[in-house]
Amino acid sequence: MNKDDPSTPRRPATRLVTGGRDRATSFDYVNPPLVRGSTVLHDSVADMKARSQARLAGDDEVATYGIYGTPTHQAFYAALNALEGGYRSWALPTGLAACTMALLAFVRTGDHVLLPDSVYGPTRRFSRQTLARFGIDTTFYDPCIGDELEQLFRPTTRVLFLESPGSLTFEMQDVPRLAAIARRHDAFSVIDNTWATPLFFQPLAHGVDVSLHAATKYIGGHSDLLMGTLTVNERAWPAVREAMHFYGLTTAADDVYLAHRGLHSMGARLALHRANAERLIAWLRGQPEVERVLYPALADDPGHALWKRDMSGASGLFGVVLRPGLPAGALEALVDGAQLFGRGYSWGGYESLMIPAFPERTVAPCPFEGRLVRIAAGLEDADDLVADLERSFAALRAVR
Ligand SMILES: *Cc1c(COP(=O)(O)O)cnc(C)c1O
Repeated sequence: MNKDDPSTPRRPATRLVTGGRDRATSFDYVNPPLVRGSTVLHDSVADMKARSQARLAGDDEVATYGIYGTPTHQAFYAALNALEGGYRSWALPTGLAACTMALLAFVRTGDHVLLPDSVYGPTRRFSRQTLARFGIDTTFYDPCIGDELEQLFRPTTRVLFLESPGSLTFEMQDVPRLAAIARRHDAFSVIDNTWATPLFFQPLAHGVDVSLHAATKYIGGHSDLLMGTLTVNERAWPAVREAMHFYGLTTAADDVYLAHRGLHSMGARLALHRANAERLIAWLRGQPEVERVLYPALADDPGHALWKRDMSGASGLFGVVLRPGLPAGALEALVDGAQLFGRGYSWGGYESLMIPAFPERTVAPCPFEGRLVRIAAGLEDADDLVADLERSFAALRAVR
């Protein structure tokens, strides 16, 4: 019999492994049960009434109906919430749904939201088109902004959205400083924390109200899952809880189970994602066609000081800016020349990917001129990956 006293302090990498483990609800198995379900059986009318009232009063663990999550969900929520230091966590069917619901939960007609110009493209489009249709105004701001953010707040500003680093252009944001400004203006701050993962950055400890992830990426880790998560503090939970319950946003237990399974091995995977990224970056920086590599863990990256201050590690996604003035078709030849790197959207899976990237901007010009390739370093042998880059650059050099 081995008993884990929950009051024993554990480091995050250990909590990835043990998080959500509860022998009492898993029949002594190490993994939680996979409970699919809609109907919950009750003992009596009095029991139905008591449980419904407990739920209405805010008890999120009492079982009344599948829409609020089964024991499979509760186990994953416990694991994620402990990692992110939250009050409650919740799963959504996609990462994008986590982005959009983290905005919708807080706003009403006439309100205003602030989005970084580096934000994930579909989040940008949702705000500009869908939120606009409901009479909610968006202002984009320079992701590298400091105290000048203060001037962009209006009396109607409800949400400050952050994404650090941006998943195309990799600018780091001064998260605690910006979250403090939002707090002073009585707005909620929300961060898309997908790049850093719950392992390397705990936004709630830095004053942010909502941390969201595309669990599709490193948490799932195997490109077989679409899922999003929200972890919120006590201040944000009533609004988020209402949105999750009233919009009916439940994620299938099978998907939640896969995300929880992914979490257990995420630490080991991330170590190799980063090591491979650093091998590739070292090679890329030696090529005359490469202008810059965008990766905040690099000592000379403009975001390095913030990364070092706030984050305890780096994942394996980075940008490669090509030297301006290469012949037309050079970028396409580079990407098409790869055999091992897949050409596909997403990242955070075990496979390496390479795509052309087209950052959209409204207020802050892109911090570079050349064309951009985004690389997700997977878990293949690093020598094979470097050999594939050699092939790609040979294809690029053949373009005249
Ligand atoms: C992929 C991604 C999302 C959306 O996740 P999906 O599960 O694909 O909807 C959100 N934010 C970032 C930064 C992403 O890379």
